[in-house]
Amino acid sequence: MDNQILRLEDVSYAYRSKDPRYVLRDVRVEFRKGTMYAVTGPSGSGKTTLLSLLAGLDVPTSGKVLFRGTDIRETDLLAYRRNSTSLVFQSYNLIDYLTVRENVLLKGPCDPDELLNRVGIGSELWGRSVLKLSGGQQQRVAIARALAGTSEILLADEPTGNLDEETETSIIKILTCCAHKDGACVIVVTHSSRVCAAADEVIELSTINKAVS
Ligand code: ADP
Ligand code: MG
Repeated sequence: MDNQILRLEDVSYAYRSKDPRYVLRDVRVEFRKGTMYAVTGPSGSGKTTLLSLLAGLDVPTSGKVLFRGTDIRETDLLAYRRNSTSLVFQSYNLIDYLTVRENVLLKGPCDPDELLNRVGIGSELWGRSVLKLSGGQQQRVAIARALAGTSEILLADEPTGNLDEETETSIIKILTCCAHKDGACVIVVTHSSRVCAAADEVIELSTINKAVS
């Protein structure tokens, strides 16, 4: 219980559109520190929506997202986003015209060289434009950037979606290390059976989402 860091309490969400339809309905789930979770489910089942609510990028239509027991809407949402969460996207979201090291520094003051070493990006690449990296290298730079700072919650959306097995293995190692060594709460949306096998808990979204029936 003490380890609990995030909790969704009866969260429902519908995109505001002409024909609002619930993507998430009465979702109840909790997440602990020091644990890696894999969230799975078919395309369109609401996985990215769930991550954006956990990240405080959007707010539920009804229900609450609790961070250490407090509704994130009642806290400084910007501070929550900036200080407590880190996001890794499938599409890397690196800035093309910056170098590897500059991209890592974007998150704020940090030791980019240590972070890049941690994700296995050698010093020969630190001054290179990110455009001249492979997909696997770009994703590792994106993870290094996410690891800058002291975020207790690491959220990743299909981080190994476009990568070969060897690169996937190295990314799985980095993610499990964040949970098991650094004590972070790591939540990974994935279709990969290898990521699921490495996770401490696998959450099949359709089993907790009453919008799916
Ligand atoms: P997943 O990540 O599991 O593929 P998403 O969370 O991206 O699913 O999307 C869940 C559902 O919400 C899908 O039916 C999708 O079409 C819809 N959706 C996603 N983003 C928007 C949006 N900005 N406006 C309206 N509907 C959206
Ligand atoms: Mg998605």
